[in-house]
Amino acid sequence: MTAVPVNLLDFDLDGLAAFCEGLGEKRFRATQLLRWIHQRGVADFGQMSDLARSLREKLAGRAVTAALPVVSQHESRDGTIKWLFDVGGGNAVESVFIPEDDRGTLCVSSQAGCAVGCRFCSTGHQGFSRNLSTGEIVAQLWFAEHFLRRHLQSQERVISNVVMMGMGEPLQNYDRLLPALRLMLDDHGYGLSRRRVTVSTCGVVPMIDRLARDCPVALAVSLHAPTDELRDRLVPLNRKYPLDELLQACARYLASAPRDFITFEYCMLDGVNDAPEHARALIELVRRHAAEGLRCKFNLIAFNQFPQSGLARSPMPRVLAFCKLLGDAGIVTTVRKTRGDDIDAACGQLAGGVQDRTRVQERMARQRTVALYPARAPARKAVS
Ligand code: SAH
Ligand code: SF4
Repeated sequence: MTAVPVNLLDFDLDGLAAFCEGLGEKRFRATQLLRWIHQRGVADFGQMSDLARSLREKLAGRAVTAALPVVSQHESRDGTIKWLFDVGGGNAVESVFIPEDDRGTLCVSSQAGCAVGCRFCSTGHQGFSRNLSTGEIVAQLWFAEHFLRRHLQSQERVISNVVMMGMGEPLQNYDRLLPALRLMLDDHGYGLSRRRVTVSTCGVVPMIDRLARDCPVALAVSLHAPTDELRDRLVPLNRKYPLDELLQACARYLASAPRDFITFEYCMLDGVNDAPEHARALIELVRRHAAEGLRCKFNLIAFNQFPQSGLARSPMPRVLAFCKLLGDAGIVTTVRKTRGDDIDAACGQLAGGVQDRTRVQERMARQRTVALYPARAPARKAVS
């Protein structure tokens, strides 16, 4: 029986070196292979001219560089490009390239679906199918980088930043995420600086600590609420890791982080979390944790609506008033520009088609019948 070929995109440098040793080759061959694959975008071993023919022959039988089939590609008026990749079994995941004057950012998915089930997130509403492999996470970057170099006729690297803000909760797929992050940082891989690779999490506290030890990169935490009472309902994982524990983990993370602040993402939901009293409670929360070393910035995100959520975007004047309250309290706060809106590529719109293997879809449907707003909120705000 012939063995299933190994996918070389699954390996970081150490993994590839071990694989090379297993073939009876020297470890430095791994460096050469990594450069061919990730820096030059070459998948065909026959073209890797500085590898000994004997090694190329060994690889040809045992290994592949497995790209993900592209189901679709959409380009926005603002230059944002969204790809839908087929990951088999009826699942598809999305990646988004966001060009800006001084950088090119790729937003990468970590799971097919997501098991957390945040109330305002369309991935969350789809349920969960499975974790992506390291190779599937890396294949998004590999494809996008080399496609864009051809598309933009660039000899230089096009993607300068990666944000793990696509579909899925990256810290619930930690073991596959870690080699992918290492490849992004590796000088023989993508050579990105730690400050330009961001893991975004809804707050998996033990994994924040592990990331600090294993591979500290920039950290964004999806906060969305100033109290446990509200956050429990928006981000269900809060029931397991409540705000105080989460903010303590953020403060600990800073000891190893490449940036001296944590970015808190806060999705502005009309009548839910966007009142001045929410801003004041946030200021209070942040001040309390500043005493134990927490430093943070806030990024206010316009809610990208989708019908099943039953939620609405906060009007811009309310977003700006919220921003001003935080700013006046000395908390650096920005309002995130929405990009790729016309191709549904904005935050939380990614919904690549997932075969739900959980009861998340059912649970979310049930939840939609429960009012999200506190009893004292005006009746017109009740979610039906
Ligand atoms: N699971 C991780 C990363 C993926 S979500 C996390 O939750 O952080 C990436 C970002 O998009 C998060 O900040 C999330 O809160 C935000 N988001 C999700 N749904 C959204 C929506 N409908 N509109 C705007 N932002 C949304
Ligand atoms: Fe999952 Fe993040 Fe969406 Fe929450 S916001 S459901 S954690 S992808």
